Amino acid sequence: RKLLVIGSGGREHAISKKLLQSPLVERVYCLPGNAGMELDNIQLVKGSETDKQFIIEFCQKKQIDWVFVGPEVPLIDGLVDYLESKGIKVFGPKKHAAIIEGSKDFSKQLMVKYEIPTANYQTFTNRECALDYLATQTLPIVIKADGLAAGKGVVIAQTMDEAKQAIDDNLLNNVFDSEEPKIVIEEFLVGKEFSLLSFVGNSFVYPMVVAKDHKAIFDGDKGPNTGGMGVYSPVPYVTDTIYQEAVSSIVYPTVEAMKAEGRDFQGILYTGLILTNDGPKVIEYNARFGDPETQVLLERLETDLVEVIESIFDDKTIEVSWKKEGFDLGVVVSAKGYPESYEKGKTLNIDTTNKKVSLFFAGVTSKNDSLVSNGGRVFMAESSGATLEEARQKVYGWLSEQPLTDFYYRTDIGK
Ligand code: ATP
Repeated sequence: RKLLVIGSGGREHAISKKLLQSPLVERVYCLPGNAGMELDNIQLVKGSETDKQFIIEFCQKKQIDWVFVGPEVPLIDGLVDYLESKGIKVFGPKKHAAIIEGSKDFSKQLMVKYEIPTANYQTFTNRECALDYLATQTLPIVIKADGLAAGKGVVIAQTMDEAKQAIDDNLLNNVFDSEEPKIVIEEFLVGKEFSLLSFVGNSFVYPMVVAKDHKAIFDGDKGPNTGGMGVYSPVPYVTDTIYQEAVSSIVYPTVEAMKAEGRDFQGILYTGLILTNDGPKVIEYNARFGDPETQVLLERLETDLVEVIESIFDDKTIEVSWKKEGFDLGVVVSAKGYPESYEKGKTLNIDTTNKKVSLFFAGVTSKNDSLVSNGGRVFMAESSGATLEEARQKVYGWLSEQPLTDFYYRTDIGK
């Protein structure tokens, strides 16, 4: 097979690498990809992930068998619909299903209608109504922009002033530049979070093993949220019973609800969950693989990823198996200063040929034959161990041997 992956981050590096491991695959292209991927023989394609016409022409010219769309923006923009309309096979949800991530108001309405456990909420477009409602609520309170906001649309307000500011930012100043500014005001839930992703086909669902992502920039989960600074899988506090409950009360009902709405979902359904005293509840849905979860999850997948995806295309079930023993853990190395302002162009002198850790590159480019940083999250070092502590020591042991003074990483992932 010749395959095309759309996207450029660590997630797409992991997907491309896994696809290339399949004996069925001859070549994997990644558009636009990043320079670090070339170390794994992934072929980069210059172009924009939302340039539909260019993607079609590329697929036709290179006789691509199928396309895997990694990020949310092209999914919500309808890339899947467009490619399919031109006869190109593609893995990912159509626009009418990707809305489960694209609109928080949509996803909240869906959960209420189909009794899927989630935080209580109200949606507002009118600032006065939002302020009146706020006055009736207790703190902390969660204010969410309805649409995509690159991880910056959620405010957990500890004071009424912070909450009012978040309402004003959205409904008065439209800081996310949305066509119709809308917010969800949501009850604050207390509990431990985890990510449960599933392969979703027309007549079956394969829930994956669970992962735990650390979004905050500093140790102890302090400081502002980032795209994700570290991750591990499986998650010791998610017992078999909790896992089964999450699958039966959240994952399956969500897939059924989307069908009942005439919005059949095919692709990766990401449920971001929180374990409350009343059981697992939904914090958010994504319509795609998560980054950094993908990097550890695909290391735990034993079945050929190409066979899993093609079983979905063909609507034929297969056995999907996962590593049963041990843990996988990944630590993200970022630019200093991220997620606020940071410098680019720092040379990365790490040992890319080592066998101790797997490397997944994100914000990198090449300059004079070396890799230099080109984004906030630069790369992830990942490894496995019989225990979480062993995996942790392998990754941090390797990181401590690298010249990373120009970079930053958390020191407590999996601790
Ligand atoms: P992403 O960047 O992953 O797409 P997002 O911007 O869509 O995230 P959410 O995942 O909805 O935002 O929220 C971001 C974080 O805020 C969550 O991971 C969680 O820690 C916290 N959060 C969101 N909603 C709630 C809630 N109702 N109660 C407690 N914490 C919450």
